[in-house]
Amino acid sequence: MYSIIIIGAGPAGLSMAVESIVSGIPTEKILVLEKAQEHSFSIRKYYPENKLVTANYKGFEAVCIGTLCIPDLSKHETISYLDTVIDEYKIRVQYEETVWKMDYDANEQSFTIYTDKGTYQSRVMVIGIGILGKPNKPEYKLPLSLKERLLFDITSSQIADSRVLVVGGGDSASEYCQYLVQNNNEVSLSYRRGDFTRMNHINNDSLQALAEAGKVRLLLNSNITEIIDQDGKPRVVFQEQEYAGEAFDYIVYALGGTTPENFLKTLGIEFNGKEPVLGEGYETNVPGLFLVGDLSAGTKGGSIIWAFNSANTAIKRITGKYLDV
Ligand SMILES: Cc1cc2nc3c(=O)[nH]c(=O)nc-3n(C[C@H](O)[C@H](O)[C@H](O)COP(=O)(O)OP(=O)(O)OC[C@H]3O[C@@H](n4cnc5c(N)ncnc54)[C@H](O)[C@@H]3O)c2cc1C
Repeated sequence: MYSIIIIGAGPAGLSMAVESIVSGIPTEKILVLEKAQEHSFSIRKYYPENKLVTANYKGFEAVCIGTLCIPDLSKHETISYLDTVIDEYKIRVQYEETVWKMDYDANEQSFTIYTDKGTYQSRVMVIGIGILGKPNKPEYKLPLSLKERLLFDITSSQIADSRVLVVGGGDSASEYCQYLVQNNNEVSLSYRRGDFTRMNHINNDSLQALAEAGKVRLLLNSNITEIIDQDGKPRVVFQEQEYAGEAFDYIVYALGGTTPENFLKTLGIEFNGKEPVLGEGYETNVPGLFLVGDLSAGTKGGSIIWAFNSANTAIKRITGKYLDV
């Protein structure tokens, strides 16, 4: 019987393990299950290689309340920091293991967790799987024949010396544009609104500077209605007449992610509209089952420091109510 099983080894899951150890739960009573081959899969997959990881992100203040904290770092420094955390705190992470079912026993206050590799029991269960497992897709149909050219992250294909259309209007869209320009691509950005109110000022300024220098073409108030396979390349059809249909080598969507509603509902978690109902310490309606990180941050998603802080908030409730330490 574990004291605590944590699903997901991103910033939230790893900091949950650290906060548990710091609060006195023995390391061998804590297990982290990660479905990817390595920890922090979302950071590895969705961050451009040269990205500046800002401590202050999406308006979440860079104020750390728990054990873990980062200043502004590079992508690699961020991953190294979390590598060190795993080593230093001797966190047990089992990789390539996916949870598919969970049973809750109210009399015993215990969870039985079924994965593709085994069955485990735990008093408390914490989910930190983020919102990027399923990136948002556009409403129009995407031709299957163009699968290799319609991308939802920036690391699975090496894109250089190409014509690229980025779709989106948040921080990721700006960061993708900056990265693609550095790799000698001809970059256009399609956004359905007229200004970038969702971007932080660093990304907004960088994007405007690239646009002024003629390195990124901004297609504002543009709505794509269709993607057509034109000799193996995506040709984009816009609703607006001023944007004539044109072909690109790649389209990179930066539309964010959404809460994995179905997975959480199968665990018995109640929702209010699109958001899980959370109580004190990010506890769900299932006693002893907590959500941390992006899953606890509401519709706009969280930040790394938010993830760290959410684990600190959750452990106070966990140790106060469920585990004697
Ligand atoms: C392009 C981009 C740029 C960003 N830039 C910044 C920035 O500069 N600064 C900042 O603070 N934040 C930034 N963020 C946000 C930040 O990355 C997230 O808020 C943070 O990673 C959330 O941590 P998390 O642990 O909740 O989720 P994630 O980081 O998404 O980690 C979830 C982990 O759970 C694993 N997992 C998923 N499903 C399962 C499952 N069923 N079973 C087991 N494991 C599972 C995943 O493989 C992953 O390792 C950025 C996000 C994006 C997309």
